[in-house]
Amino acid sequence: MSRVVVTGGAGFLGSHLCRALLDRGDDVIAIDNLVTGSVANIEALFGRPGFTFVEHDVSNYVWVPGDVDVVMHLASPASPADFERIPIQILKVGGLGTHNTLGLAMAKGAKFFLASTSEVYGDPLVHPQPEDYWGNVNPIGPRGVYDEAKRYAEAMTMAYHRHHSLDVRIVRIFNTYGPRMRPDDGRAVSNFLVQALRGEPITIYGDGSQTRSFTYVDDEIRGFLALLDSTETTPVNIGNDREFTIADLARLVIDVTGSTSEVIHLPLPQDDPTQRQPDLTRARTLLQWEPTVALRDGLVETASYFRNVIGPVSVADDQRRPTPS
Ligand code: NAD
Ligand code: UDP
Repeated sequence: MSRVVVTGGAGFLGSHLCRALLDRGDDVIAIDNLVTGSVANIEALFGRPGFTFVEHDVSNYVWVPGDVDVVMHLASPASPADFERIPIQILKVGGLGTHNTLGLAMAKGAKFFLASTSEVYGDPLVHPQPEDYWGNVNPIGPRGVYDEAKRYAEAMTMAYHRHHSLDVRIVRIFNTYGPRMRPDDGRAVSNFLVQALRGEPITIYGDGSQTRSFTYVDDEIRGFLALLDSTETTPVNIGNDREFTIADLARLVIDVTGSTSEVIHLPLPQDDPTQRQPDLTRARTLLQWEPTVALRDGLVETASYFRNVIGPVSVADDQRRPTPS
């Protein structure tokens, strides 16, 4: 049993991680400033022994009383819509927040786990992306605030590992979806599902030929724990290597929800990566980890969650197309 600090613990991935850690007997201290997370995500955990929540901005000095065995730093807004809305906070939590949480891990003699991202590869020129690809990032474009913050966070984590012998793990997370995503977070999966359930137009940016590889949250969290429990100190991709175009995703969402929504095309955002797929060789060989949830199955679960959180939808049931078998 370990005492684990999870920054960003009230967010989408953080809340699933807190639950998984409690389920295996760990104590969890979730720290979150609720900028993109919500207490509703962790409401069910408050009654569980060993769970504590602290509202705090980790870009400011972080202190936790008592022993700490592991610091898992997930705090960071993650949706491209947030890159325009709160760019400085994103840079600060990737830079100062990572520095503060590394300092906490050093002070406690704890293991440090960094939630990094496939965005460190930018608009990749190597496909699929192995961990030794250095990436193709525009540092001054609108996505640079997130991509460079995460690249800096990785650099600082490796410096603490080399210079201070801190025990570290770095996970590069590929597009992950599932229950407890914010319905209005602006990402493709949440936008498309909510639009489909409301019978509103599905907004494809550009012609929809850009690709992503979507990972169901349960697979992602299982990968986090496999990496945490391993001895691997250099970055590991955790994602699903089935690649889909965004137009494929829109079609699948319409099928799964039985929606009557039309598809419309809006301008492609600047620097939107054209392709993304993890090379999973390291995850498979070092962690014996495999993604198992098919996109269709994960979308069914996520659609059911959104149906509950967005309430009654404007499309009458009898207007919905039957879900193909
Ligand atoms: P999220 O927005 O749901 O969760 C992030 C959490 O961090 C939120 O609860 C937010 O309130 C909190 N937070 C942000 N800044 C903070 C600060 N300064 N101090 C304290 N708390 C702060 O997003 P998510 O999808 O759950 O992402 C979690 C982590 O995983 C992030 O580091 C993100 O970069 C990374 N990631 C996610 C994905 C994905 O597809 N979901 C992909 C790649 C990387
Ligand atoms: N996208 C889209 N319509 C939307 C939201 C996103 O076509 O309503 C596109 C977006 O331009 C990108 C892809 O879907 O090409 C994935 O976007 P998301 O924001 O989910 O993740 P990221 O770009 O960070 O991979």
